[in-house]
Amino acid sequence: MHNHAAVGEPYMTKMNIVLFGPPGAGKGTQSKFLMEQYGLGHLSTGDLLRAEIQAETPLGLQAQELMSAGELVPDEVVVGMIRNRLTDNPAAKGFIFDGFPRTRAQAEALDAMLDKLGTGIRLMLALEVEEEELVKRLLGRGATSGRPDDRSEEVVRKRIREYEQKTAPLKDYYQAQGKLRPIHGMGSIAEITARLTAAIEG
Ligand code: ADP
Repeated sequence: MHNHAAVGEPYMTKMNIVLFGPPGAGKGTQSKFLMEQYGLGHLSTGDLLRAEIQAETPLGLQAQELMSAGELVPDEVVVGMIRNRLTDNPAAKGFIFDGFPRTRAQAEALDAMLDKLGTGIRLMLALEVEEEELVKRLLGRGATSGRPDDRSEEVVRKRIREYEQKTAPLKDYYQAQGKLRPIHGMGSIAEITARLTAAIEG
């Protein structure tokens, strides 16, 4: 499939990373560091959806109901948002995908879109954090961030279930391509950053 992946060609010079993990795993926090360290663009479907809600677009209205129930929004919606951002930004050194893909259909769509642009995913960095720690972090964030989906324990646990059922199986998808790097996601922010850097440079 990636027959243009020879050394020296664009496929090898782009660094597209899927930053993966359950809600509350620290993807947003670690993305900031990776962007600065490696000069990458950041594409977060959660952030893009919250911007649509803020702007009160029809898409935002539709997404809001699902998000506040802890459910996933439809694949076509998030794939469409990502497609626009990728083609807007052909010169980027690469992207960190944060919160995307979340389903097998999204992962396949992403591979097809990147392939068309002559590039691909280099690594999936999968943050691993225990469930009780996730709940604690998310409810803590909900107390200060104003994110409605972080305020209720029921919604938080629903998001973790959605992750386990629909999203976690993507580890197998990337593992089959030799791209999965599990990262221990407990400890200080700096410790986790160091593990991510080691996985990227290793
Ligand atoms: P978190 O990872 O903390 O749950 P996000 O900000 O990534 O938060 O996403 C918040 C919500 O937005 C999700 O619970 C889901 O409803 C929706 N969402 C974000 N990205 C996707 C996606 N790729 N596919 C489907 N739904 C998504």
